[in-house]
Amino acid sequence: MKKLVVFNWKMNPSSFQKAKKLFDFSLKQSRKLSAHLSVVIAPPFVYLEHFFYLLNSKFKKEKGISLAAQNVSFKNEGSFTGEISAKMLKDIGVSYVIVGHSERRYLFGENDSLIAEKIKRAWENKITPILCVGEKKRSSFSSAWSFVRKQIEKDLVFLKKREKNLVIAYEPVWSIGGNKPVDSLRASLMIEKIKSFLKERFHLLLPVLYGGSVDCQKIDDFLKYSQIDGFLVGSASLSLREIKCLLTKVDNF
Ligand code: PEP
Repeated sequence: MKKLVVFNWKMNPSSFQKAKKLFDFSLKQSRKLSAHLSVVIAPPFVYLEHFFYLLNSKFKKEKGISLAAQNVSFKNEGSFTGEISAKMLKDIGVSYVIVGHSERRYLFGENDSLIAEKIKRAWENKITPILCVGEKKRSSFSSAWSFVRKQIEKDLVFLKKREKNLVIAYEPVWSIGGNKPVDSLRASLMIEKIKSFLKERFHLLLPVLYGGSVDCQKIDDFLKYSQIDGFLVGSASLSLREIKCLLTKVDNF
């Protein structure tokens, strides 16, 4: 399976000038990669359209990078102040949307039924959801799996057997945003569990990524496991040095 690296910039950087520098650099790096690696960048909403035009000029269509939104509304249109719909995202060339990220679940109170609706809206508009799942606290493997399985069951209630537009990111919540990634063997076993569950239940073979404190130094441990189809990277995706190093390592593995 092709590897996928998703860079989630979250609410960074604070100016368009800085965002463009980061994007231009990531694009330059992506041009050097083999066809086995795809890069997805999830900038804040306000930068998306501009980046789409950078990727699709009159003279050239860039293939190495796709755009993701970090959020989407559960509605398609109407009186929903502050919301942005999947239809609007599709219209400006967005291919993916991150849904169910722990920051949205726990800081903004998003529950599984809302997440399921958002995923449905994404599918209706031909956008691929990147569904984040993961246990909240450090716990035994079996209780972590039971938590993750329930999340998947509830978030994917609208999943149909032939739906191929879906990426799952396993992100143990306690491992995000710091220096504490989960043990790589445990992550690979969890990813295997998620894959076999989706295969048994829906006859689907879907890409499952790992996310949580991945940087250029720690990625080596995870690259050893072929079950891991790629990475969702937060903090490290804001550093030019880390971007270059991460992409080179994943591509050369
Ligand atoms: C994330 O927020 O999805 C994430 C993986 O962040 P970080 O890489 O900073 O842990």
